[in-house]
Amino acid sequence: MDGVKKSDSIARVLVDVPLAQPLDYLAPPDAPVGALCVVPLGRRRQIGIVVELGAQSSLDPARLKPIGAVLPAPRLSPAWLALSRFAADYYHYPWGEVALPALPPLLRSVPRPPRPVVKSRKKNLAAGPAPEAGAVESESRAGQDGVAPDTPGAAPSSAAAPVAGPALRAEQQAAVDAIADAQGFAPFLLFGVTGSGKTEVYLGAIERILARAARHGEVAQALVLVPEINLTPQLQARLAERFPGQRVLSLHSGLPPRERADAWLQAHAGTAQIILGTRTAVFASLRCLRLIVVDEEHDGSLKAHGGAPYSARDLAVKRAQIEGIAVVLGSATPALETWHAAQGGRYRLLELAQRAAGNAATPRIETVDLQRHPADQGLAQPLREALEQTLGRGEQALLFINRRGYAPVLRCASCEWHSRCPHCDTFAAFHKVGARLRCHHCGWNQAVPRACPDCGNQDLQGVGQGTQRVEENVRRLWPQARIARIDRDNSQGVRGASRAGAAFEAVHAGEVDILVGTQMITKGHDFRRVSTVGVLNADAQLVAADFRAPERLFAVLMQVAGRAGRAGQASRVLIQTRYPQHPLYAALARQSYAEFAAEQIDERRAAGMPPFAHHALLTAAAHTLEQALDFLRRCAELRQGLEAAASCWSRPGGAPTCTLFSTRGCRDCARWAIAACCAGPSRSTRNRSERRGAGDSIPARSAPDPRQIRTRPAPDSRPIRARSHRRGSWQRSRHATLVQTRRPGVERCDRVRADAAVRRSPTTGRSIRDWR
Ligand code: ADP
Ligand code: ZN
Ligand code: ZN
Repeated sequence: MDGVKKSDSIARVLVDVPLAQPLDYLAPPDAPVGALCVVPLGRRRQIGIVVELGAQSSLDPARLKPIGAVLPAPRLSPAWLALSRFAADYYHYPWGEVALPALPPLLRSVPRPPRPVVKSRKKNLAAGPAPEAGAVESESRAGQDGVAPDTPGAAPSSAAAPVAGPALRAEQQAAVDAIADAQGFAPFLLFGVTGSGKTEVYLGAIERILARAARHGEVAQALVLVPEINLTPQLQARLAERFPGQRVLSLHSGLPPRERADAWLQAHAGTAQIILGTRTAVFASLRCLRLIVVDEEHDGSLKAHGGAPYSARDLAVKRAQIEGIAVVLGSATPALETWHAAQGGRYRLLELAQRAAGNAATPRIETVDLQRHPADQGLAQPLREALEQTLGRGEQALLFINRRGYAPVLRCASCEWHSRCPHCDTFAAFHKVGARLRCHHCGWNQAVPRACPDCGNQDLQGVGQGTQRVEENVRRLWPQARIARIDRDNSQGVRGASRAGAAFEAVHAGEVDILVGTQMITKGHDFRRVSTVGVLNADAQLVAADFRAPERLFAVLMQVAGRAGRAGQASRVLIQTRYPQHPLYAALARQSYAEFAAEQIDERRAAGMPPFAHHALLTAAAHTLEQALDFLRRCAELRQGLEAAASCWSRPGGAPTCTLFSTRGCRDCARWAIAACCAGPSRSTRNRSERRGAGDSIPARSAPDPRQIRTRPAPDSRPIRARSHRRGSWQRSRHATLVQTRRPGVERCDRVRADAAVRRSPTTGRSIRDWR
């Protein structure tokens, strides 16, 4: 391209394509590291990020193409690049496919070519007609407001002082002091039940940190991550009310594109001091970041699955480490990894033992033994009686069942036909509303067949309970009661959202007697009149093979229990189960997370599961199942890497356990995965190191069998991730590569753990073929 001279250096540029390495381009003299640019790629033009400048390329410079244009803003900081680089390495995902999707969509779409007007190119890009240029321009506007776009802004001079919150209790104050006075990288676990005043601690710490920066005439920013978008408005209002002098922004994928780009740019420019967001916000560009808060840190929604996989919580900790700041993970039921880290002293434990909200009463949690009281239409006698009494007192009840639809599967009474999804290896649920079979994983659906497709029998039966069936049964049992159901089926889309909103309003207003719902009803709602909570199918999670299922079950049950008795009335939680003696329920009845966690930690230690081992998950995405399977099979055949890792980190000489399961499928893309259990020292090694008191999580490097090391390449403890890509213009790269990265320089990343999934699909929970 014109204007690019021979003396120009080489820029290494990230683009959103499945390539392990950045691409080399000829750089114009004004291309700094961190800049966004437009680069030619094949016949298209794409937005790229300059990550490195150099004088040499491994390719023939004559074959290198020049960068098309360097966009004036934004410039990503070295810390931001380091974070995305870390995520790419850690989760074995192409750096470009991590970094670019982390930007708001408007900023990563190529500006339309400038109109043929005689102007300098750069000016045209900044003021061009395309909306994305408009978004970029808004940063320049921010710049004119007194904050240069790429330098930390000055403290707002006429900032209104924060509004005083409630006087903190001693334990809250101690927590605020610890966080605000921490020097350098400091991870905290703030442990306290819902209503114990954790949010007040976050607010107090933010206030102190912003005030300290203001005294030095600096801007400080705080990032607050929450698991779900619908939790943001409430918290945003609370933050805005508390900090009238600061700009509080929400950053999540639910924002309209322009608004999202604008919010992102304001965060980037430092004009917003408090950034509240969902998991994607962990990648917000924040130059003056001084504190990160991750609320409900145990929540699965903080993990990203589609696209680049990552755990926003773990990346938040890594980010705090990169930036040398404090990070607060808050939860009533922390992830076991977090708890273990806090117990071992890697995270500092701050505990709030009392409930702050004075009048909330702790509910009584009981089990209903289904062996003694068999469920009839899903409800056992003691639960029916409790509901009866609740209705009699004019109070509200909540029925929680984590299955939507009418029944999880439709079955033929005469042959062995079960309703299955043709794309995923799972059952398709029977939805009576609309009379459809639906796959809850890929969204496939179909009208319910009139007769069994295999034998023609017309007697098809729904097996098991779903929310629709529970609602139907409850209506039949108490025809006079006012009943509502809230699950994803009737709350999606704009109409659904308003319907769900209305249903929640009705519950709040006392116009509903019994609310039936899934996990959706457990979060963030302060139902004042609920005095009875029934949990219908807890056991399904208890017996799931996914080793994290009990942890999730405990968390969700604590959360459901927290819905009862919020106005101080005596309240009960009844859990129907076949295993009333299970330690999980015993710990739950005592509402003791610590007890539950101690038991789980012992179990994990004995079984060599995280946090005492690492797990790897290999996934393949392809147009057909066969392609994906073929790829995975080749990986398994070619698994020196796995074997080395597994034999060294697991049982010496033993083969890794590979399990094959479907995760998600869609019409033209089936994803299959093998989970390879590797890492973790051998049992004998583990025992030895424990006897020596080696203590913390991964004493793995201690004593692998030396013969193994000599005969095989020294493995890295990290997961191996391989991908097969066949989409778009990358169809040619049919032979996917097995990517195995060694990662020098990331010593302490055992704190940041790869998403692990073993034995069963975390989503489908079924279909397993053991595969060795
Ligand atoms: P959590 O985040 O742990 O659920 P919150 O911080 O939201 O708890 O506190 C629950 C309620 O208790 C809120 O209404 C909050 O204003 C109030 N609260 C918290 N701390 C105190 C305190 N020290 N004194 C009085 N009220 C408090
Ligand atoms: Zn049949
Ligand atoms: Zn499906």
